Formats: sequence, C-alpha cells, structure tokens
Amino acid sequence: MEFGGVLGAGGIVLGLPTLTFLFSAYTSNAGWPSTQGGYEGLLAHLLQRNGTQLFHDVVFFWDTNIFFLYCLYWFALAALYLILPSKKVLGCPLPSGERLTYPLNGSLTLAVVLGVTYTFFYAYQPFPGVSITTLLDILPQLTLANIVFSFLLSAFLYVFSFRGPVVLAQGGNSGIPLYDFFIGRELNPRVGGLDLKYFCELRPGLIQWLLLNLACLAKSAGAEGSGGLPSPSVAFVVAAQVYYVLDALMNEESILSTLDVTTDGFGFMLAFGDLAWVPATYALQARFLVQQSSMSPSSNLLLACAVALGAVGMYLFRASNGEKDAFKRDPSSPQFKGMRTIKAKVDAGGGKTRSTLLLADGWWGVSRHVNYLADWLTAVAWSLPCGLASPIPYFYPFYFAILLIHREMRDSHKCAVKYGAAWEEYKKAVPYKIVPGVY
Ligand code: NDP
Repeated sequence: MEFGGVLGAGGIVLGLPTLTFLFSAYTSNAGWPSTQGGYEGLLAHLLQRNGTQLFHDVVFFWDTNIFFLYCLYWFALAALYLILPSKKVLGCPLPSGERLTYPLNGSLTLAVVLGVTYTFFYAYQPFPGVSITTLLDILPQLTLANIVFSFLLSAFLYVFSFRGPVVLAQGGNSGIPLYDFFIGRELNPRVGGLDLKYFCELRPGLIQWLLLNLACLAKSAGAEGSGGLPSPSVAFVVAAQVYYVLDALMNEESILSTLDVTTDGFGFMLAFGDLAWVPATYALQARFLVQQSSMSPSSNLLLACAVALGAVGMYLFRASNGEKDAFKRDPSSPQFKGMRTIKAKVDAGGGKTRSTLLLADGWWGVSRHVNYLADWLTAVAWSLPCGLASPIPYFYPFYFAILLIHREMRDSHKCAVKYGAAWEEYKKAVPYKIVPGVY
C-alpha cells in the first residue's frame, strides 16, 4: 500500500480538506499569516481555531446556493465535454490491450467558459454588484462546495466501481474500504460517454483556477491608485499561470500517457486534488499579491528573476513532456534518429509480450524526470514575486517538491515492474532521478 497505508489515507482524507479550507478562509483581507511574529505566530494564526471553532466556521461559511451553482458549473462542463465537436484520440493500451477513445475539446470548453464569463460579468451584467472579483469574496464558500462535491463524487465512484466487471486499478483494490476509497478502485470510470477521470483532470479545477486568477487581475487593476492597470507582479503571476493552464488544455492529449490516467484509480486522491486542492492552493500567489502587496512589495530584481526562471521552466516542461509524447507516438520519427534507446519487452496480457522502447537520450537522457524539475522551477517562479514576508505563497513549491519526489518513487517502482531489466539498464544510462548531478 502507498501513502502510508490506511493511516496515511485516513490522515490525507481528513487533513488536506482542512488545510484547503484554512487556506481559503484564513488567508484573506482579514490577514495573511506572516513570519513577522516568528513561526510560532504563523502557526498560531493558522491554528487559531480549535476543532469546535473550526466546525463553527465551516457551518458559518457553508452556502447551499453556492454549492448548487458549483454543481451547475461542473455539470455544464460535463455537457460541453459531450456535445462540443472534438478530435477523438486513442489512450494508452489497457492491461487487456484494449485502447479507450478520448475527445480533445478542452480548449474549446475553455473558450466557451470565457465567452460566458465575459457575457455575464462584462457585456450584460444581469446581477448588478456581481463581478468576476466576487469569486474572491466567496472563496471560502466556493472551496467548501469544491470539498463537499469531491467527497460526494468519490463516494459515488467507490460504489459505482462494484457495478460489475470493470477494469480495476492495480493499487486501489486492497479490499480495505477507506484505502480503496482514497486511491480509487476503478481505472477509467465512465458514465455514458463521459470519462470521469480524464474530464476532472484538466477541466473543472484547472478552469476554476484560471477564473480565480482573472479575478485577481481584475481586482488588482481596479485597486485605488492603480490607474486601471494590474501591478506588474500580479500581471506576471497571472500570465504565467494562465499560460500553464492553456498549455495543459491545448496539449490535452499528453495527459493520456501520465501516471494518473494509465495507472491510478479514480478515487478521493485525484477527485479531491483535481477539484478542490488545485484551485485553492494554486491561486495562493496571485491572491497574496492582490491582497497583501503592501506587506511585501515585489522588487524589480525578484520579478526579473521570476520571469527568467518561469521562461526556463515552461520551455523545459513543454520540451521534455512533448519529447516523450512524440516518442510514444512514433519512436521511428526522424526527430529520434541517432538517439539512444533501450529495447524492452512488456506484458501484453493473455500470456503474450510486446516489444517497446525507452528513450535514454535528449531530455530523457538528462535525468529520468527532468519534466518534474521543469514543473518545480515554474512553481518557484510563481512564488518569487511574493517576497519573503509570508511563507504561505511558498506553500505550493514546498508541497510540490514532496509530491514530485514521491511521484518519482511511485513511477520508478511502476516502471521497474513493467520494464524489468530494461529499466535497470535505463537507470544505469541515466543515473539521476530528477535534478541532473544532484538527485
Ligand atoms: P511522466 O510524464 O513523467 O511519465 C512517466 C511515464 O513515462 C512512465 O510511467 C513511463 O510510462 C514513461 N516513461 C518514463 N521514462 C521513459 C523513457 N525514458 N522513455 C519512454 N517512456 C518513459 O508522468 P507524470 O504523469 O508523473 O507527469 C507528467 C507531467 O505532469 C510532469 O511534467 C509533471 O511535472 C506534471 N504534473 C503536474 C502536477 C501538478 O499538480 N501541477 C501533478 C502531477 C504531474 P509507460 O509505462 O507508459 O512507458
């Protein structure tokens, strides 16, 4: 069992939603935890509520209307997934060799959402006083809606996975309900044409994060004395994160060869991560810069470093992920001529094997997961403009480093089982896991 087994799963199921709620409810105009009072002050701020008070805050912020509005948003995106025109592509082979079909219409979905947002908040404004910045005002209520929805979805997924013979994820069917609820029993749960995991990975949470960022941009531009322009730090962080989301949606096909889609079941871990954790924690930097810029004015030097680091990170991210994706699609493409590859035989089901290749050159010859390094550098670049007054905007790179190191271990284990001796040969040829020369 992974993630510390049943205890770890239980801790995450209780702990991460609490932290997510704290980040939304206790980092706001009312004050951001800062290092000014030392780290005890910071902890005291975050833990200022004991269990009973926290429960009261949850009840206080619960808003049924916002929950239903969130459901409307989620189901509307699901409807767009089904009805918008799309190119259909095949996913990676399942253990049986079968390949599922997936629609590529994430960027079209985003275009529709942005069109509706513009119409609703700028062109017609049917509700005076409601603007895109209202999203920031209702963040605790919205985050609670995200959390409750992800719990309900995970419960549905768990029960739904018992409906008959389904393809189970290797890790998610231990027979221990809490653990299986957490990891996810079924590999690719589908309701009609809707692939729930693929849909949740890149749409509701990622698009909500982008909308929160646009709200930060509008708030910064609307601040007193701004002259109608957002501050350079907010503009940079929002532009970089919007680019990240656009990149993910425009290269939607790349997600099909990731660990999440090929190996992990769809349970609480991914449902909560995709729907609640991403919008609440990934928007921390932009929210911080909008609300507390006086606490930590960005220096031009920090901003320049952030821009340079962000550019390197994003280039490396796209180049490395794109290279592997292209290699998986067609290893004989001229792009890979002369590059070192390692032959492997893998299980093809029914006692058969099939031949395949590992790329041990290009970006995949620099380290075994240079794409993780790229992603982490980008995360640091988003936090740098926040200065050092509060550690909260650095939560994302901090947690992300742990996630990526743990993810590398999980992926390495998966590949060792799948590729056997060929994986050992790859490890010898490319000795570093993530950071060349260091780790
Ligand atoms: P990767 O894209 O790193 O893919 C790992 C898989 O690629 C392996 O399981 C194996 O799959 C295949 N592979 C590994 N090495 C080779 C090689 N040398 N040659 C050919 N195939 C190889 O997986 P992830 O899903 O972990 O990450 C994808 C991206 O998503 C990363 O950039 C990561 O940073 C990002 N990410 C971002 C998150 C966020 O919250 N922002 C969260 C998680 C990931 P196979 O068995 O199919 O060959």
